[in-house]
Amino acid sequence: MYTSGKIVGRYAPSPTGQLHFGNLRTALLAWLHVRLQGGRFIVRMEDLDIPRVVPGSADQILRDLDWLGLDWDGPVLYQSQRNELYQSALSTLTARGLTYQCFCSRKNIQAATEASRGVMGVYPGTCKKLLPDESKALSSGKNPATRVIVPHHMLSTVGDFVVQRADSLFAYQLAVTIDDLDQGVTDVVRGEDLLDSTPKQLYLAKLLEPGIFPINYWHAALMLDNNGSKMSKRDGSISAEVWRCQGGTAEELLGYLAFTAGIIDSEKTININELIGSVNTDALFSVLS
Ligand code: GLU
Repeated sequence: MYTSGKIVGRYAPSPTGQLHFGNLRTALLAWLHVRLQGGRFIVRMEDLDIPRVVPGSADQILRDLDWLGLDWDGPVLYQSQRNELYQSALSTLTARGLTYQCFCSRKNIQAATEASRGVMGVYPGTCKKLLPDESKALSSGKNPATRVIVPHHMLSTVGDFVVQRADSLFAYQLAVTIDDLDQGVTDVVRGEDLLDSTPKQLYLAKLLEPGIFPINYWHAALMLDNNGSKMSKRDGSISAEVWRCQGGTAEELLGYLAFTAGIIDSEKTININELIGSVNTDALFSVLS
């Protein structure tokens, strides 16, 4: 469906369970964003966090996207097969003196943040001040995480963040940035729960490929469950599979997702071709921020 591939967008689910309606709605917005502009849409499975991956869920996700009519271009990329690439980028950052090892536990970080009246979730920089000897002594006791050093103006809002976890898995922020660069992604549409990640990924992208034109990031409102809470794959929030078992069709679900996203005026049964014909880019941009 795409023409010369002017823009490249992606949907990058973590196969940690079935996609719930909120995930599907974000996928729909990401797909429309690309297809309305004649771009290329790719799917990437973010299956790096092995302990959380649910067997079979990657295939189920692809079946759900396909069932809704959200087609993609080229092969699906699996992050679990790309460790060498992540390792090589991390080694480059380390060789440039841009990382350090961190031995802090969650508890240490919380205590240090409270003591320094810092912002929760922003690393207070404890291990950055370690002398080489101290670092060596600590490393005999436990595996460190690796953090990337951020510039001064990002210290109080973002903080030095983890690029490789203490269990040696590459962190989401690193892998996602490398893949977006490597796959030539120009536009990312995702849920607003990832808003905090955007400055981290922009910064890493600048470090890894200084000349690159920055990616455009768009964030969509999250769909809330009946109690007003964020949906989660693990709490059994309603999935396409449940919908199908209850006799629901793809066209009914598309209508529901598009209407609740605010891109069509009434809830109706609509197939993907009718939907793309009736939504304009302005309406879509108005629900993204
Ligand atoms: N894998 C992430 C998730 O499922 C999304 C990553 C992204 O879109 O940047 O929440």
